[in-house]
Amino acid sequence: MTAGQQTLVCRLEAIHDLRIETQPVAEPGPGEVLVRMARGGICGSDLHYFHNGGFGAVRLRQPMILGHEISGYVEAVGPGVEGLRPGLLVAVNPSHPCGHCAACLGGEHQHCTDMRFLGSAARMPHIQGAFRERMVVGAAQCLVMPGDVTPAEAACAEPLAVCLHALAQAGSVAGKRVLVTGSGPIGVLAVAAARLDGAVEILATDVEDAALAVAARMGATRTLNVGQGSAGDASAERGRFDVAFECSGRQSALAFALDSLRPRGTLVQIGLSTEVTLPLSVLVTREIALKGTFRFNTEFDRAGQLIASRQIDVRPMITAAYPLADAVEAFRAASDRSRSCKVQLELTDHG
Ligand SMILES: [Zn+2]
Ligand SMILES: [Zn+2]
Repeated sequence: MTAGQQTLVCRLEAIHDLRIETQPVAEPGPGEVLVRMARGGICGSDLHYFHNGGFGAVRLRQPMILGHEISGYVEAVGPGVEGLRPGLLVAVNPSHPCGHCAACLGGEHQHCTDMRFLGSAARMPHIQGAFRERMVVGAAQCLVMPGDVTPAEAACAEPLAVCLHALAQAGSVAGKRVLVTGSGPIGVLAVAAARLDGAVEILATDVEDAALAVAARMGATRTLNVGQGSAGDASAERGRFDVAFECSGRQSALAFALDSLRPRGTLVQIGLSTEVTLPLSVLVTREIALKGTFRFNTEFDRAGQLIASRQIDVRPMITAAYPLADAVEAFRAASDRSRSCKVQLELTDHG
């Protein structure tokens, strides 16, 4: 690493205006690590920024480097860093809570009021993301990935952490019947996490057969295409499930999930969208517990361990990878659910 080194970055200037630009790389300071990035997964939130300029009240108000599902190789360590050395593969935790607000002190770091989450426009100035060749991060944000796990798999630690956090909202699903609506990356990881936790039945739904095929490979015991004109019979599922994870944010999926739960079942809402109508009569008369879930708290390390040990094998969900220079093409592919589950960027040629 020489002074004055430059890195390519993938920066969103405005809606549909994604550019590959160059900027300088800093030296790692005390407690910091320079990472040569390897893989970066394109998340639904990255797609929201790209297509819509944000979601809800979170709007892109200045250019922002996207990306928060990332892995790479330690290239240099700053003073005082222990346990990390050049060459190690790490999954980078994009969450950086302040550590001293009321939420942090209460152990609820995902609700930190001074959160710095990589690639997020939730605050000004925006927190720049990790779709770049090289980046300095805190050593504490680096989780070493042992064994023969690949950078592509390591970059799935973040979305798996989201799903482990969602699963925890429902308590254990061991021995339970689980419904997962929406079989995108989060849906199929919820399937895998529920399978590992001991769910006896896991039904995954979607409107795309390609998505359902991935869900089956990730552990769904059954799949159901709920698209218009599909042969699936949604009414046959009425009242059958103990827990539902709603991962699509769609009105029809929410209604189906509520209808498919048994009385006193639990619905965990993971999918984000602006406004949907909640069928209150179903919620009330069947005493459904409705829970939200947001990002993750301490689940990142466990997610990395499950991936490194392949107790959760994420390889079936990684459907394509593109060089950083082809980021626009990668975003197009990631937006096409008929062919893509998780699309990743090869941030350097070691990706
Ligand atoms: Zn994400
Ligand atoms: Zn905090």
